Amino acid sequence: MELFQLSRANSVSEAIAAGAASTTAQQGAEVRLLAGGTTLLDLMKLNVERPARVIDISRLPLDTVEDMQDGGVKIGATVRNADLAVHPLIRERYAVLSQALLAGASAQLRNMATTGGNLLQRTRCVYFRDTAMPCNKRDPGSGCAALNGFNRTLAVLGVSDACIASNPSDMNVALTALDATIHVEGSTGRRSIAIDDFYLLPGETPQRETVLEPGDLITHVTLPPAPPGARSLYVKLRDRASYEFALASAAVVVKVVDGRIAHARVALGGVGTKPWHSPEAEAVLMGGTPDMATFQRAADAALAGAKPRSQNAFKVELARRGLVHALTQVTQTV
Ligand SMILES: Cc1cc2nc3c(=O)[nH]c(=O)nc-3n(C[C@H](O)[C@H](O)[C@H](O)COP(=O)(O)OP(=O)(O)OC[C@H]3O[C@@H](n4cnc5c(N)ncnc54)[C@H](O)[C@@H]3O)c2cc1C
Repeated sequence: MELFQLSRANSVSEAIAAGAASTTAQQGAEVRLLAGGTTLLDLMKLNVERPARVIDISRLPLDTVEDMQDGGVKIGATVRNADLAVHPLIRERYAVLSQALLAGASAQLRNMATTGGNLLQRTRCVYFRDTAMPCNKRDPGSGCAALNGFNRTLAVLGVSDACIASNPSDMNVALTALDATIHVEGSTGRRSIAIDDFYLLPGETPQRETVLEPGDLITHVTLPPAPPGARSLYVKLRDRASYEFALASAAVVVKVVDGRIAHARVALGGVGTKPWHSPEAEAVLMGGTPDMATFQRAADAALAGAKPRSQNAFKVELARRGLVHALTQVTQTV
């Protein structure tokens, strides 16, 4: 771990001004914001992140969950994952988000981890976290050791020849199925970004993971009102029952009216280079009957573009089955 200067931001504008001093928004940035620290400090200890300045934003007044006039909800960037998971508004209206949060990490980590930090958590690809190995995401142009190496846990959707690192978050999969919007404040003003547009595919520039610019601070996330009568569910499949990242996961929001699917949102986790929204699966589901044949066709559509490597072909079938299971459960009449 390298020496760094630690200071605390007393206001949003102070945090933005400090962050703007950085010239690169991605890894290696000179200035980093510190929220819960559960990603950043790990990576600093591994010398993957080497900021000269760390700005503590954990005490900014961005820690509330608020009901909005339109029936949606506003989630502050520093709301802890543990608090968000059990908040009555989230449990009542957005069950899939509560379930995804509780499926992540451990109780201690959830007590520290924040909404903003979770949105920006980095991949668990072992080569990204090992500075002795080539990794285009950590060290652009150095190559990708995962392509022909240990790739069992890595992505099959959205991959490129430069990077197959999977996005590890559970929360972000649920936020994708819930059509979340990320609100950002930076030196050029405020922006609101649909979660589908927030993450970038690796392509030739895997070091750039989101559309954020240096100095951008995530202030909050909003969710639109939950469609009346819709039900939602998060299914996570992993090597052990707790304290483990997803090999594959599915977040679904579905509404059935008169025996037909009238609303469908599908997102997959563990298999994509970003939280994976599947409009292809939704197109199959919309207007269809909620039965096994429809669900299997939807899952086939979701995984049609999968490009597995030597060790992770099993994820294609795992994700397909996970999605069918989630759709079956969420449409079951009680
Ligand atoms: C052992 C272990 C197991 C885990 N298991 C899971 C799991 O099963 N599922 C899962 O989803 N996650 C898991 N995680 C990841 C965990 O959820 C994340 O580390 C956590 O959500 C990150 O939040 P944080 O507030 O601690 O982020 P930090 O580490 O503080 O920050 C992460 C990044 O986000 C930036 N940042 C933070 N807040 C803002 C903001 N408001 N605006 C702009 N930039 C910001 C920071 O600068 C940093 O680059 C695990 C982590 C560990 C260590």
